[in-house]
Amino acid sequence: MMNEVTQIDKIALAMPEISSWKVGARELVRAFFPNAEIQINKDIIKDILIINISSQSDTLIFSADLLGKNIQKKSYDIKRPIVSKKFKGFFYRFLSGLTKRSLPWGCLTGIKPVKIIQELLDDNGHDWDRAKQSFQTKYCVSKEKTDLAIHIAKVEAPFIDLEAHHKVSVYIGIPICPAKCAYCSFVSTIADKKGKLCADYLDVLLHEIDRFSVLFEKHDLIIDTLYIGGGTPSVLTEDQIQKLLKFLTDKFDLSHLREFTFEAGRPETTTLRKLEILHDYHVNRICLNPQSMNDSTLQAVGRLHSAEDIRRKFSMIKEVGFESVNMDLIVGLNDETPKMFFSSLEQVIALHPENLTVHSLAIKKGSRLREENGCGLHQLYSKQFYDEISKRLANNGYYPYYLYRQKYAQGNGENIGYCLSGKEGVYNILMMAEKQTIIGIGAGATGKIYHSESDRFDKVYTVKDLRTYNQRATEIIDKKLSAYSQSFKAH
Ligand code: SF4
Repeated sequence: MMNEVTQIDKIALAMPEISSWKVGARELVRAFFPNAEIQINKDIIKDILIINISSQSDTLIFSADLLGKNIQKKSYDIKRPIVSKKFKGFFYRFLSGLTKRSLPWGCLTGIKPVKIIQELLDDNGHDWDRAKQSFQTKYCVSKEKTDLAIHIAKVEAPFIDLEAHHKVSVYIGIPICPAKCAYCSFVSTIADKKGKLCADYLDVLLHEIDRFSVLFEKHDLIIDTLYIGGGTPSVLTEDQIQKLLKFLTDKFDLSHLREFTFEAGRPETTTLRKLEILHDYHVNRICLNPQSMNDSTLQAVGRLHSAEDIRRKFSMIKEVGFESVNMDLIVGLNDETPKMFFSSLEQVIALHPENLTVHSLAIKKGSRLREENGCGLHQLYSKQFYDEISKRLANNGYYPYYLYRQKYAQGNGENIGYCLSGKEGVYNILMMAEKQTIIGIGAGATGKIYHSESDRFDKVYTVKDLRTYNQRATEIIDKKLSAYSQSFKAH
């Protein structure tokens, strides 16, 4: 029965019209059946797996029918109200019984599982053991993932200053790239040969920085970390980078910065002069992203550099004297095999960057990787595969310091940031912890306003399309500033 059920590619859910339950149910069914088409409360076709969910006074009932035959039925005693979290816990147990499988993260489908540890610590008088036990039992999380989440939460804790309400982090977005990577899902615009796009955008950006400097001053805000990300910020010319950093230094008080990151992800955009300028303006963390160290893969996914370019630029970054370098690798890029991934990993470890982030790419059904290997991703990128990554990194002094999950990625579906001792990427931790306001400047730069009184945050979205941003800058910046100033007034 197990194979029969797990191979199902169409699932119909008949359930109460409660939107939070529907969201949770869809996420869990997707986690157990990653390739199945899911329908909720639509016309039921007989030859698919049908899951009925209903609740009667103090009972929650789940039942599954396959080809018109009931294959599983379970009811659970409940106490009302059944919030979404509780509903997911019951539904997870039912699906686990139905498929005879358990998921490493249990019924947690959100992208920030480590944040839940913080909530459990608050609920359990900051007792780590109780928070750990609660995490594992309440959400059915495996022991291994519980240990990982607890480890990361402990690493992150000293970086999160819950009392510093006047501190903010700033993200400046430069969503422009030299060429599009085949796997890219960001809204990033390709730079034109004449450089007009970068020049126009920089003008808008400087104007926005100027406007925000007034807000910072008015509310006595202290900038804790600064992150210039993309796209590929190093696509700007040397003069443009110099102009941006000089303007930032003139307008913002950067004397309290704990960390200043600049993404120079694509090595072909980085020059010695650009690095020297960044260093002169006290950037202390650089991102240089190989993604893979296999030239054939790099070529296939539209990266314009080789593994050798990465090695050369890494040495240049170190010669200029930056404190910290982050390097990203992606599992499953261009259908790479585990052996190819480990070759990249070993080459990057040999460079000894302070931060190394391992991303999981969502690999679609019918991809070459699946076709050629004739098996599911969970067999190729198995638990053993991910264990081996952690083991090799640990053997070289790296430990995990931040983690987020990708909603629709297959395999492990996690992105984990590893670091050498004492070299945690502070901005990444703050982004995940959501206990500090993040100001987003530029196109597509989503901000987060943290409300300490209620321990919640609001997101501040902005226009992603660069040309629209450039054309309607004043109106867009006005709107954004108004959202932030409202929140600071309220504090
Ligand atoms: S460098 Fe990043 S943002 Fe730019 S195209 Fe590649 S994946 Fe997309």
